[in-house]
Amino acid sequence: IRSKLPSVGTTIFSIMSQLSIQNKAINLGQGFPDFNPDKKLIELVNQAMLEGYNQYPQLAGFHDLLIAISEKIENLYGHRYSPETEITITSGATEALMSSILALCGTGDEVIIIEPFYDLYLPAVQLAGATPVVVAMDPPTHPNENYKINWEKIRDALSSRTRLLIINTPHNPTTMVFKNDDLNELESIVNQYGINIISDEVYEHIVFNGNPHLSMSSRPALAEKSVVISSFGKTYHVTGWKIGYCAAPKALMTEIRKVHQFAVFTVSTPMQVALSRFMGDANTYANLSSFYEEKKDYLSNQLRINTPLAPYSSEGSFFLLASYADYSDLNEYDFCHWLTTKHRVTAIPLSAFYCSPTANTSNNKLIRLCFAKNTNTLDEAIARLKCL
Ligand code: PMP
Ligand code: GLN
Repeated sequence: IRSKLPSVGTTIFSIMSQLSIQNKAINLGQGFPDFNPDKKLIELVNQAMLEGYNQYPQLAGFHDLLIAISEKIENLYGHRYSPETEITITSGATEALMSSILALCGTGDEVIIIEPFYDLYLPAVQLAGATPVVVAMDPPTHPNENYKINWEKIRDALSSRTRLLIINTPHNPTTMVFKNDDLNELESIVNQYGINIISDEVYEHIVFNGNPHLSMSSRPALAEKSVVISSFGKTYHVTGWKIGYCAAPKALMTEIRKVHQFAVFTVSTPMQVALSRFMGDANTYANLSSFYEEKKDYLSNQLRINTPLAPYSSEGSFFLLASYADYSDLNEYDFCHWLTTKHRVTAIPLSAFYCSPTANTSNNKLIRLCFAKNTNTLDEAIARLKCL
């Protein structure tokens, strides 16, 4: 068989979760909460099923949910998307990203991807037949700093063939969060080159240090050119429900829906009904940043005090990076394998978010840890890591 993705294997998240289960390890690798969503949300799904919401919804999504999302975005970021023509409910942010990328680029187009990057961006661009142009972020030189986008390098990578720029804030895996300066740079690039932006904002409600989330929909000039993508999985602790959405101007959304309708057609009806009622009722996301900031601080302090791992500061998402440079010479993959099999704690090697394991030349020896866990789970992980 002629592979369309010859260099793609199984995702690092599946590989590490599998290894974690085999070794009865604490899984701080793949990003998912180990606690349940609000009970009310589960009851609302049940109720929706009993009320008869069990058949196909409209192609773009359940209308009340489209309205609730439109209102949320307008309230938080000031841009109004039409529920009829500019928002689509997708099978997780994953499908929103895949449908958008397949719809908006193709042979002869270049797409800029910023490295390190969430794993699906590269194969999605390759499947679309477009050419990925990978631009490295500047790595930090100190744990108190973060990775930064080097806008000069982005400008150097832009050409008359550039069609899309894929961005992600808060950023998985580095946790970097966009500042106003980043949006200024983007605005000037978009004005000059007329390119479109795919903006992965799945961690929009998890931003630390009192900073705001700067969505592409918060600036008219950017909203006009962007597909903004989010995920209910991250916001309501339901990653297994696989529901997300994308919002974009009508001309872009028309093209995205052409792919969406043949990839999945629609997304689970009772979940959509429940989410539409839950969103209207309780703005859980208002407290999400402080909820996760506490967990982040807890894991970070425990790592610093009780283990040889040096946590980097985390600006957002439910991850933090930690360095083992002073402890081991193993490469990041081997270290994560060893940590799971010998100490039964699972992490993700940062190098997995690069084009190839050798593309990560910063040599900071970093692993990504997920703190979306109950305190008991974090305590057990620390107890095991104390033995390092
Ligand atoms: N983008 C990023 C940056 C992610 O971290 C994830 C998954 N955690 C996704 C997209 C996919 O989200 P979903 O699970 O809603 O498909
Ligand atoms: N996005 C999650 C992470 O970064 C994993 C999702 C997946 O397993 N595909 O850990």
